[in-house]
Amino acid sequence: MLSGIAKGDGMGVHHFEFTGSPARIVFGRGSMSRTSEALDTLNCSRALVLSTDAQKDSADNLACALGKKCLGVYAKAVMHTPVEVTVAAMEVVETQRVDCLISFGGGSTMGLGKAIAYRTDLPLIAIPTTYAGSEVTPVLGQTENGQKTALRSSRVLPELVLYDPDLTASLPLSMSVTSGINAIAHGVEALYAKDRNPISSMMASEGVRALAEALPELVKRSNDPDARDQALYGAWLCGAVLGQVGMALHHKLCHTLGGMFDLPHAETHTVILPHATAFNAAEVPDLLRPVGDAVGAAHPGRGLYDWAVRLGAPTSLRDLGMPETGIKPATKQALANPYWNPRRLERDSIEALIRAAYYGNPPQE
Ligand code: NAD
Repeated sequence: MLSGIAKGDGMGVHHFEFTGSPARIVFGRGSMSRTSEALDTLNCSRALVLSTDAQKDSADNLACALGKKCLGVYAKAVMHTPVEVTVAAMEVVETQRVDCLISFGGGSTMGLGKAIAYRTDLPLIAIPTTYAGSEVTPVLGQTENGQKTALRSSRVLPELVLYDPDLTASLPLSMSVTSGINAIAHGVEALYAKDRNPISSMMASEGVRALAEALPELVKRSNDPDARDQALYGAWLCGAVLGQVGMALHHKLCHTLGGMFDLPHAETHTVILPHATAFNAAEVPDLLRPVGDAVGAAHPGRGLYDWAVRLGAPTSLRDLGMPETGIKPATKQALANPYWNPRRLERDSIEALIRAAYYGNPPQE
C-alpha cells in the first residue's frame, strides 16, 4: 500500500467520494461577536437563543448583546434531545414567530437546535462551547419513550458555526479532557472508516494531532488561550469527519453502553477509546499510526490509555456507574446489528474488551 488511503485495485490508488458540508465556519477568538452581523446576513430579527439551564447566564448575555433582534433565551436543553423538550420548545418558536435559532452550548444544546431546525427548516446559528462536534454533523439523535434513534438530514446542519475558543475557557478541566477525547474518538474512527477519503483522513490526523497537543497544555493551565484555540480547532476537524464518514466499533460500543446503563457521554468515549483503538490496531496498524504519533507511542491504543491516565481522565466503566452484571448483556447488544468495522468482531474478544474497560485495565496491545 502506498499511503494508507486506498489499495490499488486496478482503478488507481485513489478511489473515493467526497461531500463537503455546506455550513459556513467562522473560527477565532471573539467570533461570537459576529452573531448580530450574521442575523442581518440571514435577514432575521426574531432570534431565540437555546441553552442548558447551567449556561443560562452566558446565554442571557448573548441575548442582551443582540438587543431587539433577539426574543430571549430558552434554557431547557438536556442530554440526548428528548422529543418532549423539543415539542415544548416548538410551541415557543411558533407562538413567538421565531425566525432564527441560536444554539449556544455543547452537544445537548446543539441537539435541541437541530431538532427544531429539522421540524421547521428555520436557520440555525451554532455557537459550540464543548468539543463534542455535533454542530458540524448532519446527524440528529433523539430520545422518545426511553428509545434513542438517530436520523441523518442536511436540514439539521446550521447555516453558520461560530467557533469562539474564549467560550470554552469556562469548561471545567475534567470536562475539557473528556470532551476533547470524545472528539479524538471521531478522528480515530475516521482514519479507518470504510468510506474515508483523502480529505477526511487529513482532517482526522490533523484533528487528533491538535487535540493531543492541546489537552496536556490545558491540564497545566486550563484557561491558556492558545491551548483552548488549538483544542477547539482539533474538535472542529474531528467533528467534521464524524459528519462525513461512517463510525465503527468504538461508537457502537459507546452508544450501546451509554444507552443501556445511562452512562455519561464524553466519559464513556474516554474509557472505551484506548480499548477500541488497540482492538482495531491489530488489523489496521498503518492507518492508526497518526494516533500513536500524536501521543508519542508505538502502540496507539496503549499509548492513548497511558496518555489519558497522565491527563487524569477516567479509565473505568465501573467508576462511571456500569454494573458488572452488564458486561455480558452489553457484549450481546454490541454484536447485534454491529456497525461495519475493520476487524472482525467475535463474542469473546468483545467481551474481553468491555471487561478490561470495566475494570480500567490497560488494553493488551
Ligand atoms: P453537554 O452539551 O450535555 O454539556 C455538558 C454540560 O456542560 C452541560 O451542563 C452544559 O451546559 C455544560 N457546558 C457546556 N459548555 C460549557 C462551558 N464552556 N462552560 C461551562 N459549562 C459548559 O455535553 P456534550 O458532551 O457537549 O454533548 C453530549 C450530547 O451531544 C450527547 O447527547 C450526545 O449524544 C450528543 N452528540 C451528538 C453528536 C451528533 O453528531 N449528533 C455528536 C456529539 C455529541
